[in-house]
Amino acid sequence: MKVAVIGAGIVGACAAFYLSQSNDCEVILIDKALEGKATLAGAGIICPWISRYHDPDWFVIASRGAQYYPGLIHSLNQLGETDTGYKQTGAIATSKDINVLYNLEEKVAKKRETFPVIGEIKLLEAPKAQEYFPALADNLHALYISGAARLDGRLLAEALVRGVKKNKGKVIEEQIRLEKHDNQIKVSTKQGAIQADHIIVAAGAWTNDLLKDIGVSIHVNPQRGQIIHLSADEDTSNFPVVLPQESSHYIVPFDDSRIAFGATREDGTGFDYRMTAGGLQEVLNEGLKVAPGLVNHTVKEIRIGFRPMSPDNKPYLGIIPEFENVVVATGLGASGLTMGPYIGSLAAKIAMDEEIEIDLDPYRLNR
Ligand code: FAD
Repeated sequence: MKVAVIGAGIVGACAAFYLSQSNDCEVILIDKALEGKATLAGAGIICPWISRYHDPDWFVIASRGAQYYPGLIHSLNQLGETDTGYKQTGAIATSKDINVLYNLEEKVAKKRETFPVIGEIKLLEAPKAQEYFPALADNLHALYISGAARLDGRLLAEALVRGVKKNKGKVIEEQIRLEKHDNQIKVSTKQGAIQADHIIVAAGAWTNDLLKDIGVSIHVNPQRGQIIHLSADEDTSNFPVVLPQESSHYIVPFDDSRIAFGATREDGTGFDYRMTAGGLQEVLNEGLKVAPGLVNHTVKEIRIGFRPMSPDNKPYLGIIPEFENVVVATGLGASGLTMGPYIGSLAAKIAMDEEIEIDLDPYRLNR
């Protein structure tokens, strides 16, 4: 079986990697890293158990997404790919109000009965949380959750693409279009059309642009996110992720003495790839409110990404009813690094006609 995967963000790269592990599948991964590729900008917090989204169908995918990671990382390690950017560093949810954290602790403890991967949970009264994250404001209490992880999406995407190549998959760097021939869809490249048994469209926020050529539309729009990376003097590799409960902003430490302040959530920007004064002000203000100890750190880099947003925050996953050889996987929104590998594997399973362990109806394309 031949499968073409469009998009090598977290979703497409994982779908292609899954397919490349099968002896029965010839996989072609196609990507033209367009400006604003979300996987390269994403903060990489993997902690779905304390999310503000309460939709159970969202939670099914997000929690399975978090659980999918250790197996994926193991498979990459076995291929010699150890620089994956994934690490279970834990997270601290912070608040000035200890009662907010008592309530959260109760909810997380209940969830842990079903998801032991949540690990240790521990309440840290101010200023004890500073032992975990020294730059934190001294009036913040925290709830520590050991099972949370963080991911450098750039490193994982690169490791996956290398993994696909090692497994004899083909990688094409080009912006392609889809073509309709009767009721079959082909991939149009500079070298000619690719006829595949299945095409997986994992083109993130650009999915609609691609599908409109074949007369299909789904409700995915770009949401701009601006995120600021600071360089630090200290070793930040084991710092936990910081998740303030009063805001949608957050702080994510990485291995290379780097700490990210994230991020704006700007709807209606289209693909306007710019850093703005207002965006940077918002991100810095929110970050420094929580971690004033970072005020003298150097601004190293600002990244911009377009989250592929669906109106109900749930992903789109399934075959296009009119075109049975096309599977679409997108709309992962602000949780795409959490869900991406699992959704990618499901898209691959659909293409390979393998059994799927969950009900996909809540994620159908025509909702
Ligand atoms: P993308 O990564 O955008 O990949 C799509 C790819 O398709 C791109 O490379 C694009 O160039 C390619 N493509 C499109 N059209 C074509 C074409 N015609 N031909 C060839 N290639 C094409 N998620 C979390 O879980 N936790 C977080 O903490 C988190 N933080 C985030 C912070 C920011 C600032 C942003 C922007 C996102 C964040 N996310 C987070 C969300 C996550 O990054 C995205 O949901 C996820 O990366 C989307 O992956 P994707 O593969 O669907 O799309």
